[in-house]
Amino acid sequence: MLYNNLTVNEKGHLAIGGLDAVELAAEYGTPLYVLDEDVIRANCRTYVNAMHEYFGPESAPLFASKALCFKGIYPVVQSEGMCVDVVSPGEIFTAVAAGFPASKMFFHGTNKTDADIEYGVSQGIGYFVVDNLNELEVLNKVASEQGVIQNVLLRLTCGLDPHTLEAINTGKVDSQFGVPIDTGQADEFVRTALSCEYIEVAGFHSHVGSQIFESDSFNRQAEILIEYAARMNKETGFELKALNIGGGLGVRYTEKDPLLDIPGRIAEIAEHLKGACEKCDMDMPAVFMEPGRSVVANAGVTLYTTGGTKEVKGYRNYVTIDGGMTDNPRFALYKAEYTVLNASRMGEAADYECTVAGRCCESGDRIAEDIKIAEPERGDVIAVLTTGAYNYSMASNYNRVPRPAMIMISDGEARLVVRRESYEDLIKNEI
Ligand SMILES: *Cc1c(COP(=O)(O)O)cnc(C)c1O
Repeated sequence: MLYNNLTVNEKGHLAIGGLDAVELAAEYGTPLYVLDEDVIRANCRTYVNAMHEYFGPESAPLFASKALCFKGIYPVVQSEGMCVDVVSPGEIFTAVAAGFPASKMFFHGTNKTDADIEYGVSQGIGYFVVDNLNELEVLNKVASEQGVIQNVLLRLTCGLDPHTLEAINTGKVDSQFGVPIDTGQADEFVRTALSCEYIEVAGFHSHVGSQIFESDSFNRQAEILIEYAARMNKETGFELKALNIGGGLGVRYTEKDPLLDIPGRIAEIAEHLKGACEKCDMDMPAVFMEPGRSVVANAGVTLYTTGGTKEVKGYRNYVTIDGGMTDNPRFALYKAEYTVLNASRMGEAADYECTVAGRCCESGDRIAEDIKIAEPERGDVIAVLTTGAYNYSMASNYNRVPRPAMIMISDGEARLVVRRESYEDLIKNEI
């Protein structure tokens, strides 16, 4: 199967981390997000160990909260030695509520409001990742008012265009994220930051994009940032202590996607970084990476109950599920591909060609098109794999569908970590 924590048990059912998916669906109801905590921990360790080995002990991976933000994720990533990225006061609030130290948070965001900045500084955020000059000015003022020197990284763009989906490219010159090096605007950004009395510039941040399998863009990005830091050092005396090279390593959604060798990739980036540092006669900075998807995506499976099949004669077959774009909008947003299984009939041939459609009044509400699964009957449990990232965090209440419950599996035991929304929850803020 796609991942080795997924097996088929003696009943011919899908098992996740050793637990029967059909029984989990019966016990907790559907739709149900299932997270395998052991897989998340293994992914964290892969990053922590490889980054320490290739970038040195000062370096660390940050979990990008936006991929999966709920209280229960923070103790897991913290105990594995990860820092975290946050992109909003809501994510900061969630992490703080879970006991995660603000000093280990990196605060992103392309338009942080004055209130966001005040909140972040007052919480004692470790690093602001400053997106632009406007933010820099307000941050300096807020830090002075609160009497702190705020550590920051400056977000730069390197003009790279990784070969991936347009909607998730962020490192190009024409981008709403960060300040471009190519246009010369980064120079003013860096100089202004260095002149801010209440701001300590630790280094730079750059993020090329998401779901990236090629290494070229990461390697080039590392070289561009080091060369740029060397030039700024000559011109201003600025010393690069920290370099955050972003997230974005790809994961396997279908058999077509490769399984990425993360330590191998990190070793390769480290070689390019070291080479660039030697060429520029610079010390290696502490390196940060911000994986989101590649920490949690493959730990997640979503379980649905099917309402059965519908054949549109001469066209196609539909399999309907009791969720869809409300719990996983990624197909509707960018035609993301998924692997779908009939968890109730793993022993039968997967030869029923179909499109899996959600429950909303929206023709884009689909999870997968023209796939093959074992022909389902109404009531079968349908499993969609690799849903740990950007599913719960992007879920909505469109059509007043309550958000699903989430369970975590560890050591062959399941526990509820997010309660299913009730109808009362849907109206609780309405006066
Ligand atoms: C989205 C994002 C990440 C995480 O990306 P993944 O593809 O989930 O690894 C990291 N850093 C920044 C700045 C991002 O915008």
